[in-house]
Amino acid sequence: MTQNPAKAENKKIDNEWNTKLESVADTEAAEVRTSTIAGTGVFAKRHINRDEVILPLTGLRLHESEISEVNRSLSLLQVEEDEYLMATGTIDDFLNHSCDPNLAFTPDGQSFFALRDIEKDEELCWDYSTCENDGEWSMDCLCGTAACRGKVTGFPNLDAATRKRLLPIAQPYLRRLYGNA
Ligand SMILES: [Zn+2]
Repeated sequence: MTQNPAKAENKKIDNEWNTKLESVADTEAAEVRTSTIAGTGVFAKRHINRDEVILPLTGLRLHESEISEVNRSLSLLQVEEDEYLMATGTIDDFLNHSCDPNLAFTPDGQSFFALRDIEKDEELCWDYSTCENDGEWSMDCLCGTAACRGKVTGFPNLDAATRKRLLPIAQPYLRRLYGNA
């Protein structure tokens, strides 16, 4: 039986990537630092203008069937109904969630852009509900913003007003699925 190349690659995943902060490459606009929200986070190294594209979305693209139980506990970012980007320790993997984010997906779903002007040293965050379609998934939110929903859930579990607000900045497959909702 021939082995699926993506599966072979999956075995080489470094499950300790999230502890190796010193090996994370900064970009011209962003760097990983200790965060007040969740241990580590990504911060602006300079003023960022609204609409600037800041970071590409990276990771190992895997079909649902290729994700092991071990890897399921790590960061997965859903990009299709049955496909995920698995975190591999690049800077975008350290972005925290916020219910009042300053970053969002570009229309093609491939990068993060600034939703508003961002000051130097501000933490860069996006809304995790804008990629997740799992109706069972949730996590307690510690973002502390006035807009905090308390729990971060998959897109199907958002209230109608929040769905409508987040749909334009959600992953393209969610816009396709919920476009008329
Ligand atoms: Zn929150």
